[in-house]
Amino acid sequence: MNAHLDILCESSLFRGIAPDVLAQLMESSPIRHLEPGELLLSPDVPNQFLYIILSGKLHVLVGNGNTVASLPIVPGQCAGEMSIIDGGRVSAPVIVDENVTTVAVNVDVFWKLTEAHPLMARNLLGILVERMRNTTEALTVSLQMQQAYERWAFLDPLTTAYNRRWIEHTLPRFLDRVRNEGSAFTLGIFDIDHFKRFNDTHGHPAGDMALRATVHAVQARLRPTDRLARMGGEEFCLLLPDTPLAGARIAGERLVRAVAEHPIQGLDGEVLPSITISLGLATATPDMDSAGLIAATDAALYRAKSEGRNRIAD
Ligand code: GH3
Ligand code: MG
Ligand code: MG
Repeated sequence: MNAHLDILCESSLFRGIAPDVLAQLMESSPIRHLEPGELLLSPDVPNQFLYIILSGKLHVLVGNGNTVASLPIVPGQCAGEMSIIDGGRVSAPVIVDENVTTVAVNVDVFWKLTEAHPLMARNLLGILVERMRNTTEALTVSLQMQQAYERWAFLDPLTTAYNRRWIEHTLPRFLDRVRNEGSAFTLGIFDIDHFKRFNDTHGHPAGDMALRATVHAVQARLRPTDRLARMGGEEFCLLLPDTPLAGARIAGERLVRAVAEHPIQGLDGEVLPSITISLGLATATPDMDSAGLIAATDAALYRAKSEGRNRIAD
């Protein structure tokens, strides 16, 4: 009992309150024991108590369906204060991790004490501010993680270029601009030449290195507004906004040359023969949808292949 009183005296809510007041509080407030996995508080159960944790460990599960964060509660801290203060629902479940002993202060007793001891109101403000800070911090971290996941969902893991999902998401927006603003937009699709042979000769891992090297060589030579995405396999897509065909041809020639001259390092650091690419280009017209523009660009790529590879065609 004395040990419990000591914890109460040192608790965040009652710090500075006279021990005899707290001893009296303990006499009028029941002690509850809970086992791991039990819920001390649940949004589904109306709450009439503020709990001061005397021993054990719990955590608040912040989030709605999807967990946002798990905030620990340790002896000396309290739980349930928010629903007591506003008479509303418990905002998040509080789950027991290690056997818990807690003193349950009834809502009426809580308000009487608060009115009689301004220091307690001050302590309570401190507790609420800390809760708000922790929650804000947890939400910020969760938001950052969500944004990172969204970015990863649009990236190809092998090359870190954008992926096909990103193309499907983004290409219609570029075409909207063509329709609404009359801007020039050219799409490029390139495919590595004789890549099957490269894989067969040097092995699949070396083929992966060649894919990465190609992306590196191309990305280093794009304008900041140009975008590179992997459509799948050894086929890539170039999105060139504000670029009429004449400009795209110049950029395309530069990229084809750059890839052919770009050394490829194998896994052991050995230098492998360079690869070449064939690039098809097509400029969007206002009546084109994504599928139509991709088909026109694919047809140009086919011409670049049939005209001898390591070149552009439109
Ligand atoms: P072409 O010049 O006509 O394009 O000939 P190609 O050999 O490049 O064309 P083909 O479509 O016959 O072969 C494509 C090759 O690309 C076959 C496949 O093994 C290889 N490939 C596709 N995706 C990957 C990948 O992620 N890693 C590696 N290493 N190889 C890949
Ligand atoms: Mg191919
Ligand atoms: Mg190929």
